[in-house]
This record gives sequence, structure tokens and C-alpha cells, in this order.
Amino acid sequence: MSKTAFNDDELLRYSRHILLPQIDVDGQLALANASVLIVGLGGLGAPAAQYLAAAGVGKLVLADHDHVELSNLQRQVIHHQQTIGLLKVESAARAIQLLNSHVEVQQIPHVLEEPELSELVASVDVVLDCTDNFLTRKAINQACVQHKKPLVSGAAIRLEGQITTFDFRNPESPCYACLYDVTGGEGETCAQSGVLSPLVGVIGAIQAVEAIKLIAGFGEPLTGRIQLYDAFQGKWRELKLKRDSHCAVCASR
Ligand SMILES: [Zn+2]
Repeated sequence: MSKTAFNDDELLRYSRHILLPQIDVDGQLALANASVLIVGLGGLGAPAAQYLAAAGVGKLVLADHDHVELSNLQRQVIHHQQTIGLLKVESAARAIQLLNSHVEVQQIPHVLEEPELSELVASVDVVLDCTDNFLTRKAINQACVQHKKPLVSGAAIRLEGQITTFDFRNPESPCYACLYDVTGGEGETCAQSGVLSPLVGVIGAIQAVEAIKLIAGFGEPLTGRIQLYDAFQGKWRELKLKRDSHCAVCASR
């Protein structure tokens, strides 16, 4: 059943959003009635989940099979010393409930594979790829193309981050496979190469910004554009992304 009005507590909680003409009560209701799948509750998923919970997204579906480790706490700010050893989805769900008990949290504490991945993607409004694994990224992209769901893709390693949105409701949108050769291997991970702590916060927070824009329906999404952040130089660059008409994943859609 969709929400059609807020009580006084909620109006106060979300007042700084409602003051924005781009959001107002209608946009805030759209957030309250929305669901977002966040795959990966690590460095990117942590801030994205926190901001989407604080912002009042009605339902967050959290998928991660890992447990919280001491080496995560340098950057995965949704987890705490007290939740070391817990599943990341459980640790994140606890933090979200402390922050905003209006948010419904669904926990997926195992590797997300087909057909469950497709079922979940079909059931939500926006998908956030917050993983660091090439094969998972490829699978998420495929499911989002299939179900025409917007996908906000973030990545960060060492001192470099990147962010883009693939909006498959728009026939001109490229997909992840147009951008990368999806026949490739595993790619580098932060566990091997290291990553600057707040860099993942920068990229994860922008993933939340993009999700809110898509749900509330304002602004220019990052569709067809990829932004690259170089923390060392303190520089942002933007590249245009074109759909590959021969793409193995999205060409026939
Ligand atoms: Zn493609």
C-alpha cells in the first residue's frame, strides 16, 4: 500500500528536503514509496545506504555475503567495532534502524545469483552497484538491462573513483558492457591495491544522490556520462559514454 501523506514527525524529519522545490512533499512521498537494491555493503554501499535511509527511502534491499572485519572499518562507515564478526547486511540493518526506523530493510546474506538477482532487480525502483567484483557487476548489469531498471554504478580504488548511471528506461542509455569488455577477468580489488578512506564516501554519496534524483524525478542523471575523480590531483573529469550498437548485452533490447 503506498503512502499518501506524512505525519507531523515525518514532516519535521524531512523538512529540509521538503523545502527544496525539486523534492517538496511529492518527491518525499516518492522516496517513501520507493525501494532500492544495494549490492555490496562495503566502502560504497555503506555511505549510500546511510544517506538513502536518512533521506527516507521506504525500503532498502541489502545484499552482501561478507562479515564485518577489522580492516573494513577504515572506510566502511556503516559498520562499527561492536559489529565485527556480524554479517555486513545485519550490521548495516542495525545502523539503519538506529538512524531511521521508518525504513524497511530486507537482508540478502548470500551471494546474489540468478534467478534471485533478476527477481530482486524486477522488484525495486533503482539498483546500486557497490561491488568490487567484475563478474557480479556484469550479472547486475544484465539483470538491469533485462528488467529496464536504472543502475547507478560506482567504483573506487587507490586514489581514483568513478561514477555513472545506466538508465535502461531510456533506449539511448549505454550499459556496463558497452563500457567494459565483459569477457574479461576479475579485475583489481581494494584488498589488493588499497583505497583512500573518504574516496569511497565521495563516490558512494554520489550514488545516493543519483538514486534520489531518479526516484524523485528531478535533475540531470549521469546517463551517458561517466565522471572520474582523481583525489591525488583534486580533479574531476567527465567523459561521454555512447551505447555500443554491437554490445552483446544491450544491443538487442
Ligand atoms: Zn551495452
